[in-house]
Amino acid sequence: AKKHGGGTFSFFSEELRRELEHRKQLERDIAAAIAHDAFSVYFQPQVSLTNGSIAGVEALVRWHHPERGMISPGEFIPIAEKAGDMPRIGRIVMRKAIQEAASWYRTGIQFGRLAVNVSGTELREPDFTRFLFAMLEDAGLPPQKLSLEIVESVILDDEKTGIASKLRMIRAAGVHLELDDFGTGYASLTHVNPNEIDRLKIDRRFVQNINLNDDNSKIVRAITELARGLGISIIAEGAETEEELSSLLSIGCDQVQGYSIAFPMPDTQAREWLEARSP
Ligand code: C2E
Ligand code: CA
Ligand code: CA
Ligand code: CA
Repeated sequence: AKKHGGGTFSFFSEELRRELEHRKQLERDIAAAIAHDAFSVYFQPQVSLTNGSIAGVEALVRWHHPERGMISPGEFIPIAEKAGDMPRIGRIVMRKAIQEAASWYRTGIQFGRLAVNVSGTELREPDFTRFLFAMLEDAGLPPQKLSLEIVESVILDDEKTGIASKLRMIRAAGVHLELDDFGTGYASLTHVNPNEIDRLKIDRRFVQNINLNDDNSKIVRAITELARGLGISIIAEGAETEEELSSLLSIGCDQVQGYSIAFPMPDTQAREWLEARSP
């Protein structure tokens, strides 16, 4: 038994060693990617189901690794966060996304609002607000054309870090704020304040199979009705099928984003998609 136990132990430490090595390699690759401008931004449309108009476009970071191909943000963002690199990557994404949206804006392409994901570590940077306003100003994008997608936990655990006052300033300038992945964190609708939040984004897990799953349908209905009562917009993310879209429509959840509408696209393709739908 002892021998077996020892073998198990060394198996695990070997696994762990490889995992750590892999992590450290990715950390180095992330630093190199920042230096070599290897991060790009894809854009995914958000539409209104009732009138077909474009409600917004979400910017999503993409990393094309020289050897490993595309690495998903789900894999590299947690590592970049731990290594302290997320503020820099976030700024790269913010700059590229705002510049692209500003060019849509200049050429009269309808895109609703540009939605950019912002993590807690980015918001905690002391000069985040100044950086954001400078970015908008330089690009010539009105603050009203930007929305920040922030997860619930960041908005709630803020008092000490000063995030709340930053967000108030940003919102006072006209930028919209939204709660991303709504329903997965700690916020309940009783904590959602229409004086602070413009839109709730219902997490994909509640949208998936909404046509078949009665619990999901009830959750989305409840969030939709309460949000409407509070005067907050609502959007469902990750709608993959026509059936999910018609369930959302019948519930009255008007705005959607998902593969059933469009995949995240590189800038050239996103521009064509938007142009084709501009009145
Ligand atoms: P998220 O903010 O919830 O973004 C939505 C994710 O769902 C995106 O994954 C998008 O590609 C994917 N998606 C959209 N429609 C569908 C659908 O119909 N079905 C399915 N299965 N998925 C769909 P992505 O691009 O891999 O990003 C994953 C997460 O990484 C994002 O989740 C967000 O939390 C984070 N992220 C992405 N870009 C950025 C960024 O620039 N900054 C920060 N801070 N986080 C980002
Ligand atoms: Ca998001
Ligand atoms: Ca989300
Ligand atoms: Ca999500």
